[in-house]
Amino acid sequence: MLRQYELVERVKEYAPDADEALLNRAYVYTVQKHGTQKRASGDPYFSHPVEVAGLMTELKLDQETIITALLHDTVEDTLATIDEVERYFGPEIARLVDGVTKLSKIEVMTESERAAENLRKFLLAMSEDLRVLLVKLADRLHNMRTLHFIRSEDKRRRIAKETMEIYAPLAERVGMYEYMREMQLLAFEQVEPEAYATITGRLAQIRAQEGGQVGQIALSIKQALAEAGLKVEVSGREKHPYSIWRKMAERHVSFEQITDIMAFRVLTDSVDDCYKALGVLHQQWHVIPGRFKDYISTPKSNGYKSLHTALIFENSMRMEVQIRTRGMHETNEYGLAAHWAYKQGGVSPDGEIAWLRDLIEIVDASHDADELMEHTKLAIYQDRIFAFTPKGALFQLPKGSTPVDFAYAVHTDLGSMAVGAKINGRHMPLRTPLANGDVVEIIKSRKSEPQLSWLAFVVTGKARAAIRRAVRMKERAEVAAIGRKLLDEIVERLPAKVGKKAIAAAARRLGLGGEEDLLVAIGTAKLDDRQVMEALVPGSAKGLAEPEQWPKQERAISIRGLTPGVAFHMADCCHPVPGDRIVGIRQPGKGVEVHAIDCLNLANGVDADWLDLSWGERTTGAVGRLRCVLYNRPGTLAEVTGIFARNNANIVQLHMSQRDDLFGTYEVDLEVDDLAHLTRIVSSLRASEAVAEAERI
Ligand code: MN
Repeated sequence: MLRQYELVERVKEYAPDADEALLNRAYVYTVQKHGTQKRASGDPYFSHPVEVAGLMTELKLDQETIITALLHDTVEDTLATIDEVERYFGPEIARLVDGVTKLSKIEVMTESERAAENLRKFLLAMSEDLRVLLVKLADRLHNMRTLHFIRSEDKRRRIAKETMEIYAPLAERVGMYEYMREMQLLAFEQVEPEAYATITGRLAQIRAQEGGQVGQIALSIKQALAEAGLKVEVSGREKHPYSIWRKMAERHVSFEQITDIMAFRVLTDSVDDCYKALGVLHQQWHVIPGRFKDYISTPKSNGYKSLHTALIFENSMRMEVQIRTRGMHETNEYGLAAHWAYKQGGVSPDGEIAWLRDLIEIVDASHDADELMEHTKLAIYQDRIFAFTPKGALFQLPKGSTPVDFAYAVHTDLGSMAVGAKINGRHMPLRTPLANGDVVEIIKSRKSEPQLSWLAFVVTGKARAAIRRAVRMKERAEVAAIGRKLLDEIVERLPAKVGKKAIAAAARRLGLGGEEDLLVAIGTAKLDDRQVMEALVPGSAKGLAEPEQWPKQERAISIRGLTPGVAFHMADCCHPVPGDRIVGIRQPGKGVEVHAIDCLNLANGVDADWLDLSWGERTTGAVGRLRCVLYNRPGTLAEVTGIFARNNANIVQLHMSQRDDLFGTYEVDLEVDDLAHLTRIVSSLRASEAVAEAERI
């Protein structure tokens, strides 16, 4: 742990006029406030804020940021108050500490609470002062570095997942790639231990085979550039397991196809030299087409500048090369922080940096929420929009929501009575997808009722359920009317007259609530003539043919949108699993066939009656089908079945459809929990050296 004088010395090194007494006071304050509190590692708690402050000195941040880092957990976790912090350290530091404290609240919230309320808080705090975010990122980075001390696996995974979903994208957004990479690597190990083990294993294997190539190649690059008279620094590294994993998932490729697992960086003195170096490398080695990117002439939106290219080295080894000046490098790796670094004679951020100004403006301009979402890249919020009532009440809805969804979100009755909508004061169709920040006024009529056609465009469960309920009630009335006609016919065939009382008694005998239920059961053909006759007058149905039996479903799959009790089965062509969007098609005599919405066979049944279905909560035993191409050598099948076992997926059926000298093609039916489970298995297969190809069919 950094000692008090070491920390102060570090700050003084780059900020000679820093207030030494104030820094000392902050150090002592955090030590006193955290007192005997301990970390999971057994270290005194105050070691954590001190380390976070140390991280901030590496970025040469101003003394306010360093002090904020020292105090960042005092208000949250000790008896310290913001007022006290303000008394000792002044209003600016109090504001920063308050900002970090607010950000910490996001960690104790459930995912849904987080979505609505806290994105705004989060960004508000960030927009007030970006240094708050820098401290928060350093805080998280240090917590990730010490994550292995936490005993509970659940807790480790939860923290790692949160890091992956919120903090790493945020670090990327502000251009702090070093932080992003380290967070991802540490989180990946916890979130996907199986994949992590597989990939690190493969990397170790390659390292053993190719033996220290990184250093050798770096030297060759340096020599080639030196011969052209360029003075450069060359460094090389293996890509980290998470970026390899992500590439496999994004490009749907196997480990074998990711041949560029090494990356090299060339640092030059000038922009001119960057392009010269690029020319030399492209002449010396083969270029992989389509991989060249010029982020110097067109920087990324977060200010990142560099040339990227990919080359094939002597023996077909592929590698990625990044070329940039030393100045660009500093900005690239620490992004935003580089501009907040202490500058003599002034501590304000560099006003010339357009992208930084842009970011602040984007965050400030909360009316343009869409832009803001885009730029913060917080995946968990990207699928949501925020819309207002004319009185200013805020409703959070899934992306793609329409005025009908909005109306039902406000009140079920409002949804039922909707006939039109004004969006931002203009009349718009009810099917119009809402945009972030829209003000939505619903035009209603007491005589109106929900329309079946709305189901084609609403996206929220609440709207869907309410429309279905209303439509079902209406349908029920219609069905009951049909049932009435059928019952009248049945009654005429009976030897004796039956009255109201006899019908009520028959309904009871059949386990139904009353006459109306009986009419509906007849109208929907749940009861056949024979059963009704027997219930009305026992013995009257003798001589009538036995009814046809419906097939029973075999697994514990629950599906919403079906009338309970209706027979259904999963289509053989597309094998939908929970997570896929699904529809049902009524097959005469066989009940409902459930298809994935993108199933090709559906195109053949366009005029069939499509049922809008969704997965129920408790579904087990869904079966997905995979095609795997394995290398034809001993042990590959065992390796693959091992992957299924480690992923808790039961093999329902496995058969070889093709085999030649090199490959064997298998079709496998797997019992999986859901789509995510299946996708994880496909990725694990692709990571295996036994597998040439793996895909869902
Ligand atoms: Mn902390």
